[in-house]
Amino acid sequence: MSNNPDVARRGLLIILSSPSGAGKSTLAARLRAWDSTLNFSVSATTRAPRPGEEHGREYYFHSREEFRDMVAKGDMLEHAEVFGNYYGSPKGPVEEAINAGRDVLFDIDWQGGQQVRASALGKHVLSIFILPPSIPELERRLYSRAQDSKEVIDGRMSKSRDEISHWPEYDYVLVNEDLDETEARLKTIVAAERLRLSQQPDLVNVVRGLNQEFEERS
Ligand code: ADP
Ligand code: 5GP
Repeated sequence: MSNNPDVARRGLLIILSSPSGAGKSTLAARLRAWDSTLNFSVSATTRAPRPGEEHGREYYFHSREEFRDMVAKGDMLEHAEVFGNYYGSPKGPVEEAINAGRDVLFDIDWQGGQQVRASALGKHVLSIFILPPSIPELERRLYSRAQDSKEVIDGRMSKSRDEISHWPEYDYVLVNEDLDETEARLKTIVAAERLRLSQQPDLVNVVRGLNQEFEERS
């Protein structure tokens, strides 16, 4: 009899946060391309869609009234006001995925990170903060994305310092200088965290099997 090393495991809530423009959406997309079993938590938001964004893919776009309704019904795992708009993570799909042993990836700000850590699922959180290599480079990336007006970019730059101040609350912090290097580090972190003892409840059965094999020998 052999002991199966691929024992069932719990799902992780993988939180990526950063100041706007540091690269977390790009890194989240690369992580999803690497592992198609990763569930992405599609947030609800009251901000207007950017060109190319689709309802249900990047975000669920809602009016402020609809959003407040969802919060009042207890449908949100966390929610926050960011840059004058509401953003929140719908609870149902997250619970479903985690209970089925699948990981869920979140692109949320520090306020959302704090709330998910404090939630009932908090012990399964893996949180990673992405820093830009410099402030001029952060601004350059916001412009290179070519999706927001100068006013919107100025607003995001002025909030960056506050967002960055939350870096010590995270399990890991990556400086996203070279994109390929940061992607490789991110994958290493996720691969290792999946093997944590607390993520593998079925290990107890593997050890039980090993002990039984000891007994059969004696
Ligand atoms: P965020 O989701 O954190 O707001 P994005 O992922 O949208 O940021 O990245 C902002 C811009 O910076 C995009 O145009 C992206 O292609 C670019 N970018 C991301 N990471 C790097 C990097 N390491 N080097 C250069 N450009 C990057
Ligand atoms: P953007 O408008 O650029 O897509 O996102 C703006 C900020 O809102 C980013 O920092 C992003 O991480 C954050 N954000 C996106 N979705 C959520 C969410 O569901 N909850 C919280 N708390 N923040 C979110």
